[in-house]
Amino acid sequence: MKYLNHILIIFSLTFSYNCGPVEEAQEHVDLITLDNCAGTISDDVPQFYQKYFACVDGSVSNGVVTLATDGLPPYSSMYYPENYENQTEFVSQGDGYYQNPNFLSTINYTISIPANPVSKGLTINSALVDGVVGTSNEEYAMNAAGVALNGVTLFNPLAGPGDDIEDEKYSFDPYNGHPEPQGFYHYHTTSKGPLELLQSKGLIQNATAGSAEIEIYGIMCDGTIILGCTELDGATPSSSDFDAQNGHVHDITDGTTTFFENRYHIHICTETFTGHRFTPEIQYYQGCN
Ligand SMILES: [Zn+2]
Ligand SMILES: [Zn+2]
Repeated sequence: MKYLNHILIIFSLTFSYNCGPVEEAQEHVDLITLDNCAGTISDDVPQFYQKYFACVDGSVSNGVVTLATDGLPPYSSMYYPENYENQTEFVSQGDGYYQNPNFLSTINYTISIPANPVSKGLTINSALVDGVVGTSNEEYAMNAAGVALNGVTLFNPLAGPGDDIEDEKYSFDPYNGHPEPQGFYHYHTTSKGPLELLQSKGLIQNATAGSAEIEIYGIMCDGTIILGCTELDGATPSSSDFDAQNGHVHDITDGTTTFFENRYHIHICTETFTGHRFTPEIQYYQGCN
């Protein structure tokens, strides 16, 4: 009987080796760029998403906008597995930087954003935005909690228990992205990735985070918009009413069209608004279930 078991184990190992995902994973994948990334945004989806997003599937039903992504960044990264043409060598951004041992992988991630998000009525102060995971029920969930303009997932700024987000940055690639252990490639802060999309759409000329003409990075699952050092029309944000995660409420307009009235959003502008240099920790609106 023991002998038979061994044969079965050997047989199943051989079987999975020949026919399993191992072989599939080695298939060559051509270069993924902003021009050929997967994703279609339906014509009936609100203008805001048509104008600023790509590399996502966008649809709308009863005013609820759904964005779905395969999570693959439309540029080269050291975190792509070798069978992808997007794979590059490790590029250090300075002393102490290293490469995570794992690679990014294709994911299946969807967020649904209500047409009119409902505020939780929170006072987002430094007691709530404490940078420590699990200290409030109002924190965004761990792992993916939003989608960047280019289909990359946005994580909250909280590192896993016992880790510090400031240390995590040493594993960021030059786009400030890295994969978690399951292969979810993500941002916690600014990235030139979404800005390169604005550039390719002809909306800006300079895609450097901190000095682009317009800086918008993405949207969280509750409808909170992530802007950078500018408002959507390129104006300098007034920081006087910022909460503890650089958030405030006003109309979101490109100077011609008001896409959202009185919408909560945060500004990540790491050199100027140094009070909070990451994605939001606290969910302003209900939702994200
Ligand atoms: Zn991370
Ligand atoms: Zn603002």
